[in-house]
Amino acid sequence: MSLTLVDGSHGVRDARRFVLAVDLDGVVADFARGLRPVAAEWLGVPLDALTEEVSYGFPEWQLERCGGYDALHRFAVKQRSLFKNLPPVPGAPPALRRLSTRNIRIRIVTHRLYIPWFHQEAVQQTIEWLESHGVPYWDLCFMRDKAAVGADLYVEDSPANVAALRADGHETIVVVNSTNRHLPPPRAASWDEVEQLVVEALARWQRAG
Ligand SMILES: [Mg+2]
Repeated sequence: MSLTLVDGSHGVRDARRFVLAVDLDGVVADFARGLRPVAAEWLGVPLDALTEEVSYGFPEWQLERCGGYDALHRFAVKQRSLFKNLPPVPGAPPALRRLSTRNIRIRIVTHRLYIPWFHQEAVQQTIEWLESHGVPYWDLCFMRDKAAVGADLYVEDSPANVAALRADGHETIVVVNSTNRHLPPPRAASWDEVEQLVVEALARWQRAG
């Protein structure tokens, strides 16, 4: 949906809205918490054997003993509907609903399509999940290069993505989890904090405009 305003002096112009790019896994969907029981099943180990203090890519779970991360990922999405069943990160859906009322355009940007030949399941489960949790958005981008989608502010958790976005001059809020405790601010330990930081960034953007 795009909004067009009629401006008395300049004719028709597009109303530029603040675009908030929001990553899904580790930010809105609690990927590690949802994957952990599937990983325990895949490996044939008790749930407690898998630490919750994971790094990016889950090396602590020693997935190579059953074919590595990609094999688990394929099983989890195709056979256990992982993207449909992930728990939300606490507070994320209502915070996004509140932000959406501030005339912010929410652009979901996720790199979920990185294993070939099951994009249909991945996309379908993602859309069903977003709807069932009442996550508001106007754009849904399945992208590896997150800077390429364009946004006024990013919310991310992956250390590599945060570094790439910031190096490219994009303001990025880190949603803190066990994969990124070393990253510099701005950081948010909860979605209340994300919301606060977004509202402040929006106010700066409006003043600058
Ligand atoms: Mg992520």
